[in-house]
Amino acid sequence: MHSPHEPIHQRDFADMVEQVRLREAPTDAGGAVRFGCERCGWRHDAPLADLLARYGPEFGLVNLLNDNLPPQCRGEDSQALGAPQCGLHYLDLG
Ligand SMILES: [Zn+2]
Repeated sequence: MHSPHEPIHQRDFADMVEQVRLREAPTDAGGAVRFGCERCGWRHDAPLADLLARYGPEFGLVNLLNDNLPPQCRGEDSQALGAPQCGLHYLDLG
């Protein structure tokens, strides 16, 4: 269990066998998936409908994060564990 205010640690992502699917993605009231990074302050909203059209409903949310990392947060050792050097997470998840 983790507190709702504590972001899921990146290291845990690599161990997750089953990812939450895009069709189950958390959205705000307007139907947009909200991304935010705690390290660089990056914010991004993407309509869930657009994401579904681009990635498909079975796409994993972890993969989606990795595919949408802000450029300024791509660390040099980001490849080490397949996890980004970034605090990017879903603002509405948790
Ligand atoms: Zn960042």
